[in-house]
Amino acid sequence: MVHERYYISKAHWHNALTDWMRSHALFGPMHGQTGLHMEKITSDNLHSLVLDQCRTVESPKDYLFPLLEELASVPAESAMPVRILLGVRACDLKALAFLDRALGGPSADPFYEARRKRIVLVGSDCTQPRPSCFCVQAGGLPYPTDGFDLNMAKLWDGMVVEVGTERGRVLLDNFDRALKPTVKEEEAAQDKWRRETVLRVNRGNPDGPVPGFPESPGFPRGDAAFRETASADCVECGACTAVCPTCHSYFFDLSGPGGRGFHRRRIADSCLIPGYDRAAGGDEERASTALRFRHRLVCKLKHQPEQTGLSGCTGCGRCIDACPAGIDMRTVLRRAGGSPVSAETRTESATT
Ligand code: SF4
Ligand code: SF4
Repeated sequence: MVHERYYISKAHWHNALTDWMRSHALFGPMHGQTGLHMEKITSDNLHSLVLDQCRTVESPKDYLFPLLEELASVPAESAMPVRILLGVRACDLKALAFLDRALGGPSADPFYEARRKRIVLVGSDCTQPRPSCFCVQAGGLPYPTDGFDLNMAKLWDGMVVEVGTERGRVLLDNFDRALKPTVKEEEAAQDKWRRETVLRVNRGNPDGPVPGFPESPGFPRGDAAFRETASADCVECGACTAVCPTCHSYFFDLSGPGGRGFHRRRIADSCLIPGYDRAAGGDEERASTALRFRHRLVCKLKHQPEQTGLSGCTGCGRCIDACPAGIDMRTVLRRAGGSPVSAETRTESATT
């Protein structure tokens, strides 16, 4: 604290206040109905400022720690744009059905729920699966059977349109005259394309189905030998979880951007990145790559299916394409499944 004393005339004091007003929001005591109150000072009320007399009704705390303060808000649903997503594949419609159960329901995430209500899903048949696709081996199909508002499948010079919901039908209202019911030849041609695509996916996966819970009782293996070898190449980059359509771990960031203001932000997390489950006091239950790697399998294919009734892996293959270490989810899952449940597996399952 600097203790220096000066004297300033009333005229100069008012000049100083006028100067401060230009660069600051200025507040000071003024008489009100119930005594002195802190008011915003403007050039109109400057002469009513009362610096002597008693304390104000309000304390300075109100300017630092108000009784009510909005820290974050969810935009009104009506303020969000209605979006149409075209070409959503069957694997991703399955992933959205999974997220609807994981993030919706009685304790819904309000951001997810509001956006979900205002999105129209236009599905599309897959005709050229990638080498990494294994939707069929994961129990799905390469063409949508549900979960879409509309499904558009390219056929010859046009499209076969399937209406899945009332919302989808409304989208077609203005095109009534352009639509005609499909004829047998068109339906047969679409079915043939679909069968061929299933065969293509199967040809890319000659090793057959990918085991998962609950079909394989011992899934996933938890023994140290499996954990260590399956995760040996993982560089903990988090790419697989970032691209996965069902992974939804997150953490809160409460910092301000470069000291300018305050944000409460949600940032996607990855269970494969060190520190994922670090708790207060520095405790970390899954401190090794091997434990985190296995946790990902347990979460996607055991715990989440138990909670949602749906698998956390749709066989989209994105994690296979994204992994810089060349880790293939199909190989990992095949090695993780089908082994007898050992005492070690049971013990470790209880802690994951
Ligand atoms: S784990 Fe891999 S294959 Fe399965 S849904 Fe996620 S990204 Fe797709
Ligand atoms: S993308 Fe591959 S290397 Fe990166 S965290 Fe996932 S499994 Fe590990």
